[in-house]
Amino acid sequence: MSKVTGPLEVIDYCANPKCQAEIMFGQRVLKHGKDLYCGNNCLCEGIGAVVIKAEDSPKHENDPTD
Ligand SMILES: [Zn+2]
Repeated sequence: MSKVTGPLEVIDYCANPKCQAEIMFGQRVLKHGKDLYCGNNCLCEGIGAVVIKAEDSPKHENDPTD
């Protein structure tokens, strides 16, 4: 008889509604508030961020170093 519980116990699910992947105990995840995300993409989608290419852009008007 061996226990089923162990390192692969599911403790939560990805907070991205499109993903909802199982999050295992010990898994490296991204935490945002109380939400756990299984990866960068899910975190971005979950918080409404998008990945873009950084380009030259005007300085912030309130940049104190200006
Ligand atoms: Zn996910």
